[in-house]
Amino acid sequence: MNIYSDIGQLKGVGPKTKDLLNKCGIYNILDLLLYFPRDYEFLNSVTDLNTTNENEKFTIKCELLEFKKDIRTKTGKVLTTLVFQCNEQKILAKWFNQPYIKKNFVLGKKYNLVGKIKKNGTFFEVINPVAGCEDLAQSKIAPKYSLKDSLSNNIVVKLINQILDNIIISENLPNLIVEKYNFVSLDYAIRNIHFPKDRDSLNKSKKRLKFQELFTYSIKIMMLKQHVKSSNGIAFKMVEELKELKESLPFELTSAQSRTIREILLDQKKPMPMNRLVQGDVGSGKTIVAIIAMFNVVKNGYQAVMMAPTEILANQHFAEVKKVLKRFEIPIEILSGSTKNSEKLRIKEKIKSGESMIVIGTHALIEEDVEFVNLGIIVTDEQHRFGVYQRSKLINKGKEADVLVMTATPIPRTLSLYLYGDLDISIIDELPPGRQKIDTIFFHNRYRNKAYELAQNQIKDGRQVYIVCPLIEENEALDLSSVNKLYDDLKSTYFKGIPLEMLHGKMNGKSKEDVMDRFKKGEVKAIISTTVIEVGVNVPNATVMIIENAERFGLSQLHQLRGRVGRGSHKSYCVLIAEANSNVTKKRMQIMTQSNDGFFIAEQDLRIRGAGELFGIKQHGDSELILANIIEDSDILRIANMEAKKVINSNCEADKKLCSEVIKNLQKTSKYICFN
Ligand code: ADP
Ligand code: MG
Repeated sequence: MNIYSDIGQLKGVGPKTKDLLNKCGIYNILDLLLYFPRDYEFLNSVTDLNTTNENEKFTIKCELLEFKKDIRTKTGKVLTTLVFQCNEQKILAKWFNQPYIKKNFVLGKKYNLVGKIKKNGTFFEVINPVAGCEDLAQSKIAPKYSLKDSLSNNIVVKLINQILDNIIISENLPNLIVEKYNFVSLDYAIRNIHFPKDRDSLNKSKKRLKFQELFTYSIKIMMLKQHVKSSNGIAFKMVEELKELKESLPFELTSAQSRTIREILLDQKKPMPMNRLVQGDVGSGKTIVAIIAMFNVVKNGYQAVMMAPTEILANQHFAEVKKVLKRFEIPIEILSGSTKNSEKLRIKEKIKSGESMIVIGTHALIEEDVEFVNLGIIVTDEQHRFGVYQRSKLINKGKEADVLVMTATPIPRTLSLYLYGDLDISIIDELPPGRQKIDTIFFHNRYRNKAYELAQNQIKDGRQVYIVCPLIEENEALDLSSVNKLYDDLKSTYFKGIPLEMLHGKMNGKSKEDVMDRFKKGEVKAIISTTVIEVGVNVPNATVMIIENAERFGLSQLHQLRGRVGRGSHKSYCVLIAEANSNVTKKRMQIMTQSNDGFFIAEQDLRIRGAGELFGIKQHGDSELILANIIEDSDILRIANMEAKKVINSNCEADKKLCSEVIKNLQKTSKYICFN
């Protein structure tokens, strides 16, 4: 069996299952092998039914005593009941609307039933148990996979079993390392991460795989750094006009901004490509830093490109860059999803011919066939996703170009060294003067009307309001506020007669732009939105940010959203509405109401949720780290980093081969746990 074969090669995978697997990002055998369980069910076999509880599932080893007659319940369901015997105790197994289930059983035979056990008066019962499932019988720990649509856990289990039965996974860590840390083999680890023999083998497998992730990650980063340092860059000079630009700004740069700009200009002077990360809290003024960096490159005769994660933000940057650089008459273009095709062609032509000097756009800009004549700098704004893959892709786009990455998600310095070892880091740790502190208030769901009253009053005073919800459409399963429903509700109540609009990712580019434009002009007074407005949006007259179901968002995300207000001279408010039932939610809301410091908040967030979620990696499914959490596993990260360094500096043939394997895969998103 070839691990790169299409998933359709497996027995039992027809077009429909294949489609479902594809939806989960599984295309080949390796993808499935590396589709690790999201969680496990620890199934304890019971010997005494009295010792069980109702919250956990158990495996009941029992014998079938009796078939009861099916009955119809009051609600019209068919109830099938079978009586089993388990160590002298009787237990009723009940199924609803599955009369055919009886066919699977024979009187007097032994079965494993898996389910939650309830005590009902004097006897025990188990509702809709899974019976006699071989896979569950093999292992007392059952894997639970993330599933989409009608893909069932059982299918995934079966297919992975099929693969494991047909392959042997060869070892790919240097022997010395495996021995030194007493790691289990890769083959063992992969088998036991799916179907653990017991808790101990699960833990050992996790440890081995986490090490493997962080080790490979470290090697990649180090190789990337070597690659960058050894490539030729362009030595830009500092142009005269920089002074004129700075003097023409409507404000004075903060000292943190000036320091960062100095660091960037020094990088630009060097004959190797810049590779710098600028971290700065929301509102610290990163945009102007990027504009100055691009300006210097352009005045050296090279092109500059700036990418934003959303169209809204790209539009805003475009307007800002044009405004700031107006007097210098630099040809600037915007390319985004909503640009008309004919227009796109025209702009691409201009970029190719070198007529356009600054290009603003979304990430599509770098994916698409946009060709530059002489690209000097690539700026990515609000880049939370720091995959090595993305980074290396960027670098490859303009081989000699400088790379400047800006983020408002700060991470602790010690960790950034390991995670972004290939990047130089500048920190803007100062807000422009005169910013008003944003008052953050937390309201329990019950008191949400208070939030809307506050919004009403602010609108009466001429201000504007954002309301953010986690979902677009109403979802019955999850009782969350949705954009659509809230819009309907508020339109007829608190916001009657007030110009209110919706904004979400499912709208087309043109309508989004239109709503945003009218909001900027002050025609629209309130926007109900998803997190599309999370990053970067700058409307100084907006003073209220209401966040519905705030418990659903990460702290850094809440902080980002909050950063949309407090951008002008008016007093601003952030209102968090949540169902604060759990202590964790209360604690998190408290952190938000008490702190305005992005670094502090990010650190708390990392502790509570892990890096994957913080950087939005998990949601996007392009994680480099599947199992490892950089805070929880910082010990493993440290060791992995140290071992990676040794391997890179080693002269031994095997180590060299390992490095070249990693380099070969640098450009692939393919998971690197198996790189042979
Ligand atoms: P972020 O770091 O969140 O991207 P922006 O670059 O959008 O922040 O800047 C936020 C606002 O602060 C903008 O309106 C910008 O014009 C303004 N700004 C930036 N630097 C300064 C400064 N030194 N003094 C005053 N206002 C500034
Ligand atoms: Mg910004």
